[in-house]
Amino acid sequence: MKMDLKQLFDIVGEKRPIDCELDFSAEELYGQTPFHTPVAVTGQIENRAGVVRLVFGVKSVLSLTCDRCLEAFERAYDFSFEHVLVRTLHTENDEYVVCEDGVLDLTELVRTDLLLELPTKVLCREDCKGLCGQCGKNLNFGSCECKKKSIDPRWEVLSEMFS
Ligand SMILES: [Zn+2]
Ligand SMILES: [Zn+2]
Repeated sequence: MKMDLKQLFDIVGEKRPIDCELDFSAEELYGQTPFHTPVAVTGQIENRAGVVRLVFGVKSVLSLTCDRCLEAFERAYDFSFEHVLVRTLHTENDEYVVCEDGVLDLTELVRTDLLLELPTKVLCREDCKGLCGQCGKNLNFGSCECKKKSIDPRWEVLSEMFS
């Protein structure tokens, strides 16, 4: 979504509310396309004493697959961001977002902000037990029989002696 902010850059005291939903359904993340529902963006752009400041919140629900146990799950993320908008960049400053010709590409900015903030690894829960390396059972749903079989080899010798 592109926003024409020429007027906002020119007039001190100008404000522009932001309330929109962005479609990131084609966006790839973790080798998946987790944005099944639109990303909600609300905020405001304001020219205060000639400084144009953008403040916004991003709400998204991602449909993910756990890296460890491969279960599908949904997780909501809620972040807020703040940027100073400029028409041209005079100094190197990452904090500033350049709006060429006074136009802001909000979709691109939200995408960059959001992807930087999201974790690089996704687990269904912090203490996910994962899958059994032998039988493939999801250990979050209970233990499997494999552990009992893989007893200490020293005991195996003993049990052979007594059998
Ligand atoms: Zn998991
Ligand atoms: Zn097992």
